[in-house]
Amino acid sequence: PVIMQVKNLHKNYTKDTKVLKDINFDIREGELLSIIGPSGAGKSTLLRTINRMIEPTSGEIIFGDENITKLKGKGLRKMRTDIGMIFQHYNLVDRLSVFENVLHGLLGYKNSLQGILSLYSEEEKEKALEIITELGIEDHIYKRCDELSGGQKQRVGIARALIQDPKIILCDEPIASLDPRASMVIMEYLKRISRERGITVIVNLHQVDVAKKYSDRMIGLNAGEIVFNDAPEVMDQGI
Ligand code: ADP
Ligand code: ADP
Repeated sequence: PVIMQVKNLHKNYTKDTKVLKDINFDIREGELLSIIGPSGAGKSTLLRTINRMIEPTSGEIIFGDENITKLKGKGLRKMRTDIGMIFQHYNLVDRLSVFENVLHGLLGYKNSLQGILSLYSEEEKEKALEIITELGIEDHIYKRCDELSGGQKQRVGIARALIQDPKIILCDEPIASLDPRASMVIMEYLKRISRERGITVIVNLHQVDVAKKYSDRMIGLNAGEIVFNDAPEVMDQGI
């Protein structure tokens, strides 16, 4: 089933910089969808309009039965718990532990409260521990995040997104700062999350080979337009 529809989406940063030009596509429940294309194609802008970190210029994004481009206040905050995000540069709080960073996912945007463990219930701490274990970083739980490798940091980022029980996780170039081995580990975890938890994973990538290997579907973006939207096998046929 379709979980989200992007309709006639446009983004102009200024009158002369049209970065997304009439983007239309559906997103299906539980799929791993990659968005590929050269630098500057508009991948990051597209991903960030999906959770309204960037305001679209026009168009609709239908999630459930709601047009999320219209949401404000409480509705916007609720939508952002349903749509988690991970970043190329992890966006962790370096001086805090793995445990604290993962729990921080429960606070959403209330950044001023970060790192105060007494804010969380025993149940929430138990849940954080389970997710940390699922991602294989339980040996590092009390380490500060700045003591971790890049691959470990990205697993913390995934855990922080998962603790909110999102329906969709947006991943903006999640492996662009990692070596090939760590990149594979992260892609395997993202695939597992979509398979085992049924979470929709949308990943911006610039490596076509990685996208082909892990995606259920690939969207090719070039100069703000969709130039490909199909299964990786179809791309193999040279279309
Ligand atoms: P990609 O993720 O595919 O590299 P981006 O979405 O980051 O592409 O950028 C697409 C285009 O939009 C680029 O030309 C970039 O310079 C421009 N751009 C991105 N963010 C802004 C901004 N805040 N203001 C103006 N132009 C921007
Ligand atoms: P990257 O360089 O890794 O792509 P940026 O440093 O550009 O990421 O950060 C992107 C934006 O994400 C920033 O404006 C920041 O305020 C915001 N941000 C940081 N952490 C989170 C988070 N956990 N959830 C949502 N937005 C976040």
